Amino acid sequence: MRRVCAWCNKVLSEGANPNSPITHGICQRCSTELFKTMNTPAQEFLNSLAIPILVVDGTGLIISANVTMQDCFGKTVDPKRETSGGEIFECEHARGPEGCGGANQCEDCGIRRVIAETYRTGEGCVDFLTHLDLRGASGVRRIWLRITTEKVADKVLLKVMETLEPVATGSLVKEPSPTPPHLPNSMPA
Ligand SMILES: [Zn+2]
Repeated sequence: MRRVCAWCNKVLSEGANPNSPITHGICQRCSTELFKTMNTPAQEFLNSLAIPILVVDGTGLIISANVTMQDCFGKTVDPKRETSGGEIFECEHARGPEGCGGANQCEDCGIRRVIAETYRTGEGCVDFLTHLDLRGASGVRRIWLRITTEKVADKVLLKVMETLEPVATGSLVKEPSPTPPHLPNSMPA
């Protein structure tokens, strides 16, 4: 089994043969050196990665978003202002009076659940399939995402890749199970 850093793609250990399956982890540099303190070099390093990455606290508030992430969602994160995860995605519930995390539907939000679970257990999650309903000029649009998380110190790294997956499986769009085996059915209080 080949192990690769899910964040910078560095090979952590080679598999027995080049075709062996890949498993993801996090390299020393991505964890200890950089994400213990979100200082300027850490932000520069994040910006150098060509994958969209958010750094959030245990409640989903954004500590940092790299340039790829901001470009992907056409948003600029002001580090001086408190920004919730839902705001960068333009999630339609983040715009409501209750804000991101406050609407009834937010309890079922896969992103919130994975962040909270990663924060609580320290166990990262790889390529978790979830969806978001975005508010755009032409109404609400559903997008599908694959998210990978890793807890580092008291923060959660979040890799967010948009995917066409459910559309590609056929014309009948079927809801995938939002609950991987290790996630409980309800969020801990
Ligand atoms: Zn790395």
